[in-house]
Amino acid sequence: MTLQLAIVGSGPAGYYTAEAAQKLNGGDVRIDIIDRLPTPFGLIRAGVAPDHQSIKAVSRRYEKTALSDNVRFVGNVPVGDGGISVDELLGLYDAVVLATGAPTDRPLGIPGEDLPGVLGSAAFVGWYNGHPDFVDLAPPLGSDAVVVIGNGNVAIDCARILAKLPEEFEGADIVQHAVDALGTSQVKLIRIVGRRGPHQVSFTPKEVGEMGELARASPVVDPAAFPPVEEDEALEPGLRKVVATLRAFAATAPDPDKPVRVYFDYFLRPVEVLGEGRVEALRLERTRLVEGRAEGTGEMIDIPCGMVVSCIGYRTLPISGVPYDDRGGRFVNQDGRIAPGLYCVGWARRGPTGTIGTNRPDGFAIADLIASDITPSDKAGRTGLDALAAEKGIDIVTFREWQKIDAAEVARARGGAPREKFVVVDDMMTAARS
Ligand SMILES: Cc1cc2nc3c(=O)[nH]c(=O)nc-3n(C[C@H](O)[C@H](O)[C@H](O)COP(=O)(O)OP(=O)(O)OC[C@H]3O[C@@H](n4cnc5c(N)ncnc54)[C@H](O)[C@@H]3O)c2cc1C
Repeated sequence: MTLQLAIVGSGPAGYYTAEAAQKLNGGDVRIDIIDRLPTPFGLIRAGVAPDHQSIKAVSRRYEKTALSDNVRFVGNVPVGDGGISVDELLGLYDAVVLATGAPTDRPLGIPGEDLPGVLGSAAFVGWYNGHPDFVDLAPPLGSDAVVVIGNGNVAIDCARILAKLPEEFEGADIVQHAVDALGTSQVKLIRIVGRRGPHQVSFTPKEVGEMGELARASPVVDPAAFPPVEEDEALEPGLRKVVATLRAFAATAPDPDKPVRVYFDYFLRPVEVLGEGRVEALRLERTRLVEGRAEGTGEMIDIPCGMVVSCIGYRTLPISGVPYDDRGGRFVNQDGRIAPGLYCVGWARRGPTGTIGTNRPDGFAIADLIASDITPSDKAGRTGLDALAAEKGIDIVTFREWQKIDAAEVARARGGAPREKFVVVDDMMTAARS
């Protein structure tokens, strides 16, 4: 009997799970990869920086899985309220795996964070990457200063995109509305703030190194932020490289011919966003390290700015009927098991940590759990889903139709760019049906 499997979410975790699950039940398995968008690949398309095309190339591997006979992409199908419920999926499939990622920002939890001009990185990154949810974001780029909160690669991505000239996006698939808006940006001062010091950052060497190679921006680091240089020896090699680059920035005077400064500020934690009707400044408290943790000193400083981008992590969106850990911001699960027949994987399982590759062992582990838990039971699978979608007026997009969207995006790319994404679902649907 054929094993019927539904995977909700077509990002890395969904595709790695599908890759592993193809071998289940002696290969007698049918896998539907469902996504709320007509386009696949999750954050590979909508998160990974548009000027890091080599990383996005991993989607070629997912394409191979997507085109296998026993795998189907089912796009434009939201799971949860207003779409297909998890209970309905459990009625149609032997197993359902939630690979829905963590698409919303963790709140800052400080007064003023709802002021216009305070953006979460999910929104800002989604805007420059053309995610349909964030087309209308209109980041306020008219003031000269932006504070980016967080010390991971997402913070660096946001700062780098803000610092670049339009010409530096050659070969990138940043969407046109972002290039246009960034081309008129007045931002001259970008401050990346972290609660702890340079030894505690989560940057990787390549991302930090790029900040020293920007056409119109110079990195600035206060030498006083570093512990004694001998302490670098104890760092793991990647972090040691990052710290060496930061020390080199600290030892170099900013290039007077470059009008933009990117400050790496340490030992500061945000306590309040200040402003009348919109953000005008960020109030931060100086911290010191106590047993590796940031402890407030009571000393406050205000940084005037017209925009704050918060890059402090993400949360999975709850889905009706699925137990949710509000503190952790993800589904309640035991190593990926949520309930009989229901699993989660990737960021929806473990939270927003690790690289794209970290999702691979996750996907393979879930396939192993399904192998040991589930016996096929003659469920309707994809024919049942198609009937239910038709009943609900949901217009499914297949992988072949996504390939039409893909081809249309490539065909309308501006010179040197790999594609010009459609940013509105209706336009994607028109291309899919062409
Ligand atoms: C800004 C940013 C930059 C990054 N850059 C890198 C990088 O350079 N290198 C690297 O290794 N890693 C990078 N990462 C991390 C990497 O993107 C993640 O590890 C990975 O995407 C997580 O995979 P996932 O499948 O769990 O989630 P996602 O990639 O988020 O995929 C989730 C999918 O589920 C779909 N979905 C969500 N809810 C529903 C629903 N209710 N119904 C149907 N479908 C739904 C979404 O549309 C999406 O397609 C970056 C992350 C971010 C945020």
